Amino acid sequence: MSESMKTTPEEKAKRLKMVESVCICKGCPTYKALGKEDEYIAYCFPTRGRSNVISEEKGCTCGVCPIYAQMKFTTAYYCTRDVEMKQKVAIAEAAWKGHSVWDHLRKRSDTDFDPRTRAKMVKHSRGHLPQKDKPL
Ligand code: SF4
Ligand code: SF4
Repeated sequence: MSESMKTTPEEKAKRLKMVESVCICKGCPTYKALGKEDEYIAYCFPTRGRSNVISEEKGCTCGVCPIYAQMKFTTAYYCTRDVEMKQKVAIAEAAWKGHSVWDHLRKRSDTDFDPRTRAKMVKHSRGHLPQKDKPL
């Protein structure tokens, strides 16, 4: 039996509380653009996922969050694109069909970060951030 199957509801609730306490979503440009509190944060958590209210992507700071490193995540924008596993499935499907799911992102620039933060984000999110210099 896998580790996740053995996790009790109490353990899951405890883990979610910890992830929420570490989550830096509220400081990110996409969350701030919302202009109000969302119903929840920690969008990367398996029982959370996509926000019901955030739709416009303006940069994702998940790449510098401790949870991101701890979970060895490779995707981003959990508030708009859903949890890591669902994104990986979408990426695999897009690759199978011969096109990139990230193409639409390249249409936007991201000027809300200072160069040092942006460099860190680019490093950790492996190119999934909006590409300022590469418009489609
Ligand atoms: S990885 Fe992103 S969504 Fe998950 S806890 Fe960190 S900032 Fe929040
Ligand atoms: S998941 Fe990423 S884009 Fe969405 S609010 Fe959190 S840090 Fe921002």
